[in-house]
Amino acid sequence: MRIVVLAGGIGGARFLRGLQRASPDADITVIGNTGDDIHLFGLKVCPDLDTVMYTLGGGINEEQGWGRTDETFHLKEELAAYGVGPEWFGLGDRDFATHIVRTQMLSAGYPLSAVTEALCDRWKPGVRLIPMSDDRVETHVAVTLPDSGERKVIHFQEYWVRLRASVPAEAVVPVGAEQAKPAPGVLEAIAEADVILFPPSNPVVSIGTILAVPGIREAIADAGVPVVGLSPIVGDAPVRGMADKVLAAVGVESTAAAVAEHYGSGLLDGWLVDTVDGSTVERVEAAGIRCRAVPLLMSDLDAAARMAHEALTLAEEVRGA
Ligand code: GDP
Ligand code: CA
Repeated sequence: MRIVVLAGGIGGARFLRGLQRASPDADITVIGNTGDDIHLFGLKVCPDLDTVMYTLGGGINEEQGWGRTDETFHLKEELAAYGVGPEWFGLGDRDFATHIVRTQMLSAGYPLSAVTEALCDRWKPGVRLIPMSDDRVETHVAVTLPDSGERKVIHFQEYWVRLRASVPAEAVVPVGAEQAKPAPGVLEAIAEADVILFPPSNPVVSIGTILAVPGIREAIADAGVPVVGLSPIVGDAPVRGMADKVLAAVGVESTAAAVAEHYGSGLLDGWLVDTVDGSTVERVEAAGIRCRAVPLLMSDLDAAARMAHEALTLAEEVRGA
């Protein structure tokens, strides 16, 4: 079975680990979000691609859900001693090596998709990981700074990591997305898929950004195979992160049902909500999306595998309908 998964960072990566357990023989292609990418210290950092690569490759810091295991921060301290920032973004010594290799290869003229493949040669994530695009796309967030009252547009990482999403996101813009082309292999994988899954990744700044690359949304809608998603919102709040803030910015309430409606029946065939949101199943089905309530907390690998199994079961139900 060929499965295509659109993935952000931690929600996508942990789900993918469950999917590999639930469907060990599946041929999985991951289309990764690159809207979070940022240049720091002259290096190109791709947080979501790396979270998927490290998580599936066994190098992730499990507690944090991002960055490397057994990490040290000597390089960062040395940079800070020179007064070179930003100090708010945590790059560890082991992690730095990934960004150095990536930046070197990009400078030598390789596209990001080829660089990602080369990095995955080391990590062997067991999936084909393709960035959504080789072109630069950067998610920016419009905010009003509380101290000065100044309205500013900042990089998504500055909103999330530096400001901890402490002020409302007034708008979310995937800068460059309109001109971006899907990376080589993206549309082909979608066209050849048997099932397409939206893991419980952020619907705005992870999956929404991938869908903003012209051609990807259309290819999924036209693929003619079941498209099934899992809600990142449980009990009217994100399980972790700031999905509520960025959903508000696009006028969507933070509920499992509203996120399903936001994707819409033109894109989604099936949607899983958590059992605590069981009362919303009817509302989602009224929107033309087949819906089931199952446990959606990835407390461990088994729980994630059960979620993946439920998603594939729902996909088969959709196919048979
Ligand atoms: P990021 O790029 O690291 O923010 O990761 P993603 O976009 O892939 O995933 C973030 C989303 O995952 C957040 O909106 C969380 O609510 C959701 N999430 C994290 N853990 C879980 C979980 O155990 N269950 C569910 N349903 N959602 C989760
Ligand atoms: Ca992310």
